[in-house]
Order: sequence, then structure tokens, then C-alpha cells
Amino acid sequence: MAWCPFATKMELQPESDSQPAIRPTQLIMHSLAAPWTARRTYEFWRDSSSLESHFGLGFEGDLGQYIGTETRADANAGANRRPDGTGAVSVETASDLQHSGPWTDEQIEQLIALGVWMHQRHGVPLRICRSHDDPGFGYHSMFPQWSTGGTACPGAARIRQFKTLVFPGIVARATSQPAPEAPAPAPAKEIEEDGDMPQLLNEANSKDVAIGAEWTGLAFIDAVVHSGPRRHSTLVHLLFEEDVPPGTVVEGRFYLTDTAGKNPSAYLPVSHPGGGGHQFLCVADVPEGRHLRFEVRAVTPDGAPVQLLHRVVSGPYWAI
Ligand SMILES: [Zn+2]
Repeated sequence: MAWCPFATKMELQPESDSQPAIRPTQLIMHSLAAPWTARRTYEFWRDSSSLESHFGLGFEGDLGQYIGTETRADANAGANRRPDGTGAVSVETASDLQHSGPWTDEQIEQLIALGVWMHQRHGVPLRICRSHDDPGFGYHSMFPQWSTGGTACPGAARIRQFKTLVFPGIVARATSQPAPEAPAPAPAKEIEEDGDMPQLLNEANSKDVAIGAEWTGLAFIDAVVHSGPRRHSTLVHLLFEEDVPPGTVVEGRFYLTDTAGKNPSAYLPVSHPGGGGHQFLCVADVPEGRHLRFEVRAVTPDGAPVQLLHRVVSGPYWAI
């Protein structure tokens, strides 16, 4: 039985004593399709359902824990407890009735804190689950084995937040924080030795370059950001001169090439108005035999180029 120190304990009986033990290897995030506090969610599980999640999270960041994380809870179908005794820890989060809206800032903060705790306390590796039984972090609709009959939970807006804010936030905080006082259990050590801990990419280039309306590939240390096969969460930060003409639009996009730099296929571009700092994120796996690169262009009303002053690429990555 493990209880998260910053969650309010609201233990559900008889489930907490009667359900079998698990060795938690995953954290799966849900939307409740109800705008409830952690306390109201507890009352629902207690009074109106034989199902339950381990955690409930209200809009204000109120986090309740209903079942210890080493006991099975029943929110994730086939992932609740697998035949080998591993299982998923679940967190239900308050949402609108259609579970279409985004998480609040308070919810995102608590999901990151909970993810870091799951990593430190239970050795959940810092990666997005690659299959339904692969240790890591996920959201409910990611794999059909995690639901009965399919689900859209937690909704498109939150899936986007999971990929761009919550999971990168967990990685950033877990890799910049010292381990807690209580030593992590054995699985965390095994996982480090297995090489599941991410490496960190951090490359910069401060050579000024004029960017015009043609797509321009950028080199950091070199032009190849990642060589596949690789899983990563990569942020490009560009700093342009502040004083650009009104109406200037900066567009950036990641793209893949073969190992000779040929046969490009681009991800969708992202546009930002004006000068100054702009960020671009990519979390899609790089396949074997492909190179991930980044390119940028700047469209100004008079067609004149703008100055790129500094560029940084950073983020965690894993061999796959
Ligand atoms: Zn769900």
C-alpha cells in the first residue's frame, strides 16, 4: 500500500482491503466527464459504483487518493492488473460533461507532480507507453486494451496537453530534481541499468543568420536533430530580433529525411506572429533510417529577411 504524500487520503472500503495487490508500472490519465472535486468523486465511487480510480483531481488541483497504488483499481480494464501482477495506476480528472475542455493550470501542475512521484516511488520509467503493457505514462484512449468497448477519454484537448505539457513536464522535473529522501524501490534501479532513463539533448548555435520566405534548414551542432529509431520530446527555441516589421509571421516545422538528407517529409508547420522568441515542439518517434531535422521561414510584408539571433534544441530522448 502506498499513499501519495501530497494527496488527501479518502480510502475506499471494502475495495482497498479486498482487491488484489499490483506492482504499479504505468500511470494512466482520465477525464471524468463530470466537474467534480476530488471529494465528490470519492463519494461517487463509494456510494454509486463498484468501480474506482486510484486518484481523483478537481479543477482547483485538489488531489484525492482512494486506493493505495499497490492495490488494483478498476478504471483501466485490461491494465488494472495483468497476469504477471503488474498494473496501472489511474487518475480521474474533473472535466466538462463532454470531456472536451482542457486541463486547468492547477490540474496540469498536479499531474506533473503525481507523475514525478510515480517515477520516484514506483520506478515508472520516463516514457510514453509503447504498448498496452509497456511501463510508462499514458492516457485512457491510447490503447484498446485499457477500456471496454473503446473511449475518447480524456478528449482531444487533453491528449494534446499530455503530449506537449504534462509528459514533458514530468520528464523535465524528474530529471532536474534530486531523488527524494526515501530511497526508490528496486525497480527504479533495474530500469536505469536497462537504459530506459532518457538522454538529454541540448545543442545551441548563436551564429546570426538572415531568414527569408524560403524554408531554411537550421543546424544546431549539425542539421540532424535525431537519427532513428528514436523516441523523443524535442523543443526548438528560436530567438529573432525584436524589431521586425508589423505583419511578420515566423513559421517552423520539423521534417524527416533519409540518412543522405534526401526524400524529405515534413510535419505540419507552426506559425507565430512577430519577432522575439518562438518555440516549436515535436514528440513523434523517428523511424529507423530517418533523420529528424528542423526548418524555418519568415514572411514579411515587404519580403525582406529577418535576423535569427540564437537557436537551441533540447529535450529528452530514448533509444527504441
Ligand atoms: Zn477514462
